[in-house]
Amino acid sequence: MKQQRPAPEMQPSAAEAKYVYAFSEGDGKNKKLLGGKGANLCEMTQIGLNVPPGFVITTEACLSYLADRDKGLPPGLMHEVRQHMAQLEKATGKGFGSKTNPLLVSVRSGSALSMPGMMDTILNLGLNQATLNGLAAQSSNQRFAWDSYRRFIQLFGKIALGVPDEEFDQHFSAVKKRVGAKDDVHLSATDLKEIANLFLQQIHKHTGRPFPEDPYDQLEIAIKAVFNSWMGKRAVDYRREFKITRAMANGTAVNVVAMVFGNLGDDSATGVAFTRNPATGENDFYGEYLVNAQGEDVVAGIRTPKPVHDMAKEMPEMYRQLEELRSKLETHYREVQDFEFTIENGTLYCLQTRNGKMNAAAKVRTSVEMEREGLITREQALLRIDPELLEQLLYPSIDPTHEGESAAQGIAASPGAACGKIVFDADRAESAGRLGERVILVREETKPEDIHGFFAAQGILTSRGGKTSHAAVVARGMGKPCVAGAEGINVDTRARAAYVGSHVLHEGDTITIDGTTGNVYLGEVPTVEPDFSAELETVLSWADEIARLQVMTNADTPEDSARALKYGAMGIGLCRTERMFNAPDRLPIVVDMILADTPEQRQAALDRLRPIQRADFKEIFKVMSPRPVTVRLLDPPIHEFLPTEQALVDEIAHLRNLRGTVKEMVDLSDTLRLIDPDHRGDTFESLDKLQAILSKLQKSGLDEKLLKQKQSVLRKVRTLHEINPMLGHRGVRLAITYPEIYCMQIQAVLEAAAECIKEGFEIHPEIMVPQVCTAQELKFVHKFVDEIVLEVERTYKVKVPFHFGTMIEVVRACMRAGKLAEYAEFFSFGTNDLSQATFSFSREDAENKFLPLYNKMGILQDNPFEVLDVKGMGRLMEISVQWGRKTRPDLVVGICGEHGGHPESIRFCHHIGLNYVSCSAPRVPIARLSAARAKLLESEYQPY
Ligand code: ADP
Ligand code: MG
Ligand code: MG
Repeated sequence: MKQQRPAPEMQPSAAEAKYVYAFSEGDGKNKKLLGGKGANLCEMTQIGLNVPPGFVITTEACLSYLADRDKGLPPGLMHEVRQHMAQLEKATGKGFGSKTNPLLVSVRSGSALSMPGMMDTILNLGLNQATLNGLAAQSSNQRFAWDSYRRFIQLFGKIALGVPDEEFDQHFSAVKKRVGAKDDVHLSATDLKEIANLFLQQIHKHTGRPFPEDPYDQLEIAIKAVFNSWMGKRAVDYRREFKITRAMANGTAVNVVAMVFGNLGDDSATGVAFTRNPATGENDFYGEYLVNAQGEDVVAGIRTPKPVHDMAKEMPEMYRQLEELRSKLETHYREVQDFEFTIENGTLYCLQTRNGKMNAAAKVRTSVEMEREGLITREQALLRIDPELLEQLLYPSIDPTHEGESAAQGIAASPGAACGKIVFDADRAESAGRLGERVILVREETKPEDIHGFFAAQGILTSRGGKTSHAAVVARGMGKPCVAGAEGINVDTRARAAYVGSHVLHEGDTITIDGTTGNVYLGEVPTVEPDFSAELETVLSWADEIARLQVMTNADTPEDSARALKYGAMGIGLCRTERMFNAPDRLPIVVDMILADTPEQRQAALDRLRPIQRADFKEIFKVMSPRPVTVRLLDPPIHEFLPTEQALVDEIAHLRNLRGTVKEMVDLSDTLRLIDPDHRGDTFESLDKLQAILSKLQKSGLDEKLLKQKQSVLRKVRTLHEINPMLGHRGVRLAITYPEIYCMQIQAVLEAAAECIKEGFEIHPEIMVPQVCTAQELKFVHKFVDEIVLEVERTYKVKVPFHFGTMIEVVRACMRAGKLAEYAEFFSFGTNDLSQATFSFSREDAENKFLPLYNKMGILQDNPFEVLDVKGMGRLMEISVQWGRKTRPDLVVGICGEHGGHPESIRFCHHIGLNYVSCSAPRVPIARLSAARAKLLESEYQPY
């Protein structure tokens, strides 16, 4: 029976609650209850993989404890734990607390979603002065026993008792230095004993209490500490950053696992591996191991581990078993696995497995290859790729023609090139990032507490650690470029400097890292846009086959259009014509048009603009042929093309001053002679020349003319001034007052179309009217279209097919959708304006002033300008589609706001039956994949 978490006031009695599950009984699918690590340990045990015996304490126990920590662990929990410990003793033949044959355990965290390194784990629990001797006897290895002990004291001291790392490090380094040990492995049993005792004293000093000796006391304290780590700062920050909600993961489970030892000698080892290469996706065993080492030694980068392939030579039989484990894991989970293993005296144990985090390139490649291998279906292949991940594939790489030498080489830990200023710690990265600076976080190695620095940095560079080091794993998860273990760089965090050969790098110096090759360059190195891989093409072509929504792009120029085509755009959903007006060679004509005092003057300016617009449209139509191109008629308020009032006032003041200055200058030599009649010669000569030029200027009246013009522009700017321009005289409203502007644009579109047709191109132009609120506006514009198309067809002697439609971005337009559809053959939701209208928020003001607080306080869950507000605006959209199609069943409906490239919003667009989404070029691949996923998951979608 599935357990429901009871409301706090009705906590179950000890007899009812079941908080603990043995690995042999827990449900491997129930990650919410058992955590990901726990569920998988259960599942691996049950499918017969060699997992050390252990049990899971549920997340429910955690939540119950955290609800009121003062009450201690929930009643009955420790009783259950003791029963399971008895089973562990039976399974291992060892005794918890035994002086002769002690059982040691690890106490490990693990929530429903993997949060690598965010919570805590304690190893070798159960050791004390007495069991220590038993461990030494059991293993016939004094050094091993003392090493395990000092590790336990340190981890337990830090995690359970809150003693900071530095307090241990100081003793550790002192002994190491005194005995001249280069590495930890060079410390003898006596040295380790001394260190352990120093640690014990340090803990006593710090906490005021002796170190707990009783193993069950240790266990209880450790369980609480792991539970508490769920609310630790690191874990809380991580959940906030990655938007991990309670519905996704609530509380951590605790796994208690019999210890196995990878540090028992040269037939023992520990390692971490991926079933496939998580950086490239290649079907190649990928991982690292260390002989005679324990637990986190591999991850921590204390010793540099060996690639897993080396084991084939060093421990052939173990390697064979490891390959077998690799293949069993993949066939069972049908997903790339990231797993931990330990070899104890020639026996291989699997200690953890989870789905491998991969970068986008690897995710795409493995999707294609696993489908071909028959491991997964096409649908599964699409569903395992998070669309947002594809953005990474559009990351730049180092320009291949770049010839400069790299200054250092490290491990290519997470691909992509990044450039920025060096910072040496996470806090500085964060504050620089907040100021909008691009930074590279440079460290010897990184730790979980550096996580905020990763968020802020463009890339990460470390001088120590391998492919599975903390920096590498976290950067890959985030899709940030990372070069790890660049040993040629000497990082001195305290001096805030790094040394590369004879070169000294200071904080603030610029470097470029290439996570694809591992190269590090001094200064800024040019980068290039990436190419689409064959695998990505394959995945997206599968997506297109499944999707019902088409994906268009927002593009205003032939270059943008060509780029979007490369990304698979099926047409242009929004071509903004104002960008064409803004080009430097056109703006003066546009200004003439605006300044015109009479319709004739205006027409003259428009006649000059028309051929220019026609040429623009023609080029775009040709690039996109035979796909549809939706041209939006002029949208912004026209004063946006004029200079601002302040700029004009300043210029006019300047011109006026100039007149005074010129006059003074012209008289200057006379003035000087007056003051000093003896002054003679050449100074005056050049001055005379200048004066000649100036008086010519004075007489020409050029400045006067300019001044008049500026004044006239100023007057116009003042008449055009609007209190609230975005709600003012713009869009179709311009067409009502100045019909000739829209007529010119309509004519340019249709003439361009006619010319393309004559040249043999198949084209599908669509004319779209913005800011419509009533069908009467559409009717007005439509009349012009009818007239102009006749004229164009007569002139060019070809039939010009086109569609006429409207943006839906005004609330009233939604309510009048049925009527608008009488004139419009298509609708396109302009969800940027429609969001503003729905909320009565102006976007800039909202985002700059109050929206972040709304989000933080949970008043609004998302930013409605980024994530389509399904519950509010979504209803408006749904109604519009229904009413529009009632009038015109074949009404084509799309969306061209920013939301058109957002996966969850696309899901909603699919749900309400849109025909297409339109987004910026780099979002096109994301939208294509999202459209397919929307189709695949449509039956389980519940928007409201
Ligand atoms: P994390 O979530 O940080 O990976 P884990 O709980 O997996 O933490 O444990 C940390 C390290 O200790 C890992 O390398 C793991 O393999 C090792 N470890 C955990 N439990 C045991 C055990 N019972 N025996 C040996 N090694 C263990
Ligand atoms: Mg941990
Ligand atoms: Mg682990």
